[in-house]
Amino acid sequence: MASEPISLRGVILRSSEFKDKDRMITFLSSDSGVIDICVKGSGKQGSKLMSATLPFIVCDVVVSMTGSYYYLKEISIVYSNSAIFGSLEAMTCAGHIASLLSSSYIDSQNSRVMYELCVYSFFALSKTPDDFLLIYSAFNWRFLYLLGYCISYDVCNSCGKELDSCYLSYATGEAFCTSCFGKDRKFTDMMLMSGAGVKALDHFIDSDIKKLFMIHVDEDTLHRLSIFTTRCLDVQLEGTYDSLLGLLKDLDSHTSQFSG
Ligand SMILES: [Zn+2]
Repeated sequence: MASEPISLRGVILRSSEFKDKDRMITFLSSDSGVIDICVKGSGKQGSKLMSATLPFIVCDVVVSMTGSYYYLKEISIVYSNSAIFGSLEAMTCAGHIASLLSSSYIDSQNSRVMYELCVYSFFALSKTPDDFLLIYSAFNWRFLYLLGYCISYDVCNSCGKELDSCYLSYATGEAFCTSCFGKDRKFTDMMLMSGAGVKALDHFIDSDIKKLFMIHVDEDTLHRLSIFTTRCLDVQLEGTYDSLLGLLKDLDSHTSQFSG
């Protein structure tokens, strides 16, 4: 017996073939966490459901539950975010975001904030795909913060001076000013970050979600933020999350000043 129909607002993180003519979508709902929904018959040629169940679409769905599966009854698109598919970088960034969200523990407690972060990030990627590095770094840092991992940097861990340009550890959360760095610290797991980069990291935590990407950061700092936030994800989530970094051709010029 199918359950009573349930209406949900959410965003499609993943969509894949399931059995012969069906699809399975991974759906981040605005208040019930991540669920898998089976879409019957959407694999058939000419199926309208096929184009309505692509990744990164924000939509309203009606589902019902039979056994342990949710089945799609109705779907209506709110934003298609289809422009994401016009840029390889934006698409890779959106894929990175979708993969992190679908593999994280999201329940009714943190569903709303994760959903908002996802929707604003996908929307920004579709409107300004060239800003993919900023959107990527901001997402990574805000996401880690929402999971409870993030650290804010105020002062040098050695001399206590306020930080400008400094070295940040992606393993321990420590920060050292340029005069203290090297004096009493080894060159491991640390990265040089500009003062603007430190300010941007704070902005990614403190900002109203609507203004998350409204910050100007220079090109070099953007590259550093992308590398730094990726390494923090690697350490905190014990994985390798560098799908986007693999697309950056001039990565070496930024990693050469890496100290680790
Ligand atoms: Zn210092």
